[in-house]
Amino acid sequence: MPPTTGPPGGYFGRALVVDVTDGDAATLPLPEHVLRGYLGGAGLGTWLLHRLGPPGVDPLAPRAPLAFVFSPLVGTPLTTSAKFAVVAKSPLTGLLTDALASSQFAIAGKLTGHDAIVVSGRAATPSVLLIDGDGARLRAAPDLVGLTAADADKRLRAQLGRGWRVAAIGPAGERGVRYATISHDGRHAGRGGLGAVMGAKNLKAIAVRAATKVAPADPAAVLAAARDLRDRSFGPATAKYRELGTLANLLAFNAISALPTRNFQAATFEAAGRLAADDADHADHADHADHADHAGRAGRDGGGDPADAAPANLAEVSGAPKPSPQMRRVARSGCASCTIGCEHIYRVGGGKKARVEYENVFALGPMCGVAEPDAVLAASARCDDLGLDTISAGGTIAWAMECAERGLIDAPWLRFGDPGALLRALDEICAMSTPLGELLAQGSRAASRTVGGDSGRFAPHVKGLEMPGYEPRTLHAMALGLAVNARGADHNRSGAYEADLSGDLDRTDGGAAHVSAAIETEDRAALMDSMILCKFLRGVFTDPYAEWAALLAAVTGWDVTGAELKATARRIVLAKRVYNLREGWRPEDDWLPARLLDEPLTLASGREARLTPERLRAMIDGYYKERGLDPVGRPVTLIDGDLRLA
Ligand code: SF4
Repeated sequence: MPPTTGPPGGYFGRALVVDVTDGDAATLPLPEHVLRGYLGGAGLGTWLLHRLGPPGVDPLAPRAPLAFVFSPLVGTPLTTSAKFAVVAKSPLTGLLTDALASSQFAIAGKLTGHDAIVVSGRAATPSVLLIDGDGARLRAAPDLVGLTAADADKRLRAQLGRGWRVAAIGPAGERGVRYATISHDGRHAGRGGLGAVMGAKNLKAIAVRAATKVAPADPAAVLAAARDLRDRSFGPATAKYRELGTLANLLAFNAISALPTRNFQAATFEAAGRLAADDADHADHADHADHADHAGRAGRDGGGDPADAAPANLAEVSGAPKPSPQMRRVARSGCASCTIGCEHIYRVGGGKKARVEYENVFALGPMCGVAEPDAVLAASARCDDLGLDTISAGGTIAWAMECAERGLIDAPWLRFGDPGALLRALDEICAMSTPLGELLAQGSRAASRTVGGDSGRFAPHVKGLEMPGYEPRTLHAMALGLAVNARGADHNRSGAYEADLSGDLDRTDGGAAHVSAAIETEDRAALMDSMILCKFLRGVFTDPYAEWAALLAAVTGWDVTGAELKATARRIVLAKRVYNLREGWRPEDDWLPARLLDEPLTLASGREARLTPERLRAMIDGYYKERGLDPVGRPVTLIDGDLRLA
């Protein structure tokens, strides 16, 4: 590649930093060694938090930064690349959180001429931040208060005119629910309470409009790579996402006792068949190559973050209950610039349609003991409207249901399996108008500290983030991944369940192989979340780091190698840990809820599955050693230079 004097291809080499207290905006140069060291998305967002986040800041304080971060691949024709990360200190965990979302906001936001937009301060009145070729400016938005994110998006775009793309919060974000989401076009940067951070800045929405262009270093090579990736994205490696969707996990996980049920009191749900995907193919299989500009919807952390679909061999586990015809798949869609189109739309009774993902159904169905498809879909839609993370909402409500059952909370109406109770709890959480709503709006960790007794023993979280739909006692590699991840209990930053489900190791006998698998999948996730590419594309790469290096070389002009990208992935994972250390992480934060370690599961076969504290400790020790950390999880040597934090 010829030497360049400007920023590398695909980059602008700068972030826009806006203080919404007074509307002041400044440009932060992003040197090439930082861009090359952190790429974009979650990685660059972590660097920005190190750089701009005051140590020890309250996540909801005006000074706490909220970063919208793009990537060098955004705007290229590479499939699944139209994504952005939102990064901040989480009000739920007090540690770093990064969530991804998809579609046109990513493209328009980047083409404002910035690799990231960082917001701090607090507007005097409910406002919208507008950014385009005329710069950044605030606009009062009293008419948007109380609207759903979707309605705010629609109204704002009608007011602003063509070309504007909007990321907005719902009522839960305005009121400071600690697991509120930020949404764009029905997709959600869902986990960790980013919506509450935005609400604390009195920002209802951020609207962006493209003002410039950015070219890749080698357009012909990028085009060729895009064609190749598009072709591969139609192949068998992505078939399960296109044809089944993530809901295929439900029956498969149920069959292998990996479906958390009634707040992890069981790992199978007797009514799983009623909530499962209809296996008949009713979908209107639109040609997604022709619909690349149609924004679709996805689970929390849309844009490739939703739970993996089950491998075919698991989906065919004998003895699994037959799917119910009540959940009928009627259409499919996808993100902008995506040729996979993993979003599956279902119809339940009365002609009603809703998007369905495994994590939504798990959290609002089996986790809360709710068996009615209509109720689960209604609860999922309610979360969308209110702007709530479904996993944290379902986990917190399931914990409260168990508390009520045990007499720890005075709410006799809050019972497992009661659809009306589920919907009422969601409304009370969002409104924060009752003592129970206020309590549950804090998440299960904080709520259990208030309720006391032994309620913390079964609060379903790691580091304060509620657990996704993976049973650690029968998925030991995933157990480790959930325990050590920087974001907390998270299936998108650690894909260790892939190793558990691969059949290559014993998923109930965690050891050294599980440690290696957890590290490998954590590294790959860090890389894909920073380049950014959708993780649903990961199966098409036969030599991932080398192939990703080739893509980045074509876009940026760097002579980057697979080995360099492996080091980059490690740097990003470590930088998140170092940020957390700075913000008060303690060794005991890398752990799992007590219930999962002192209550064995009885499997359908009669066999007992357990994850002992000793086994988890041994895996964590192995993880620390392989990561170059000391026995309590801290970097052994001063690594500021290696982390390129200066
Ligand atoms: S595979 Fe699904 S989540 Fe990923 S970019 Fe495509 S539509 Fe979005």
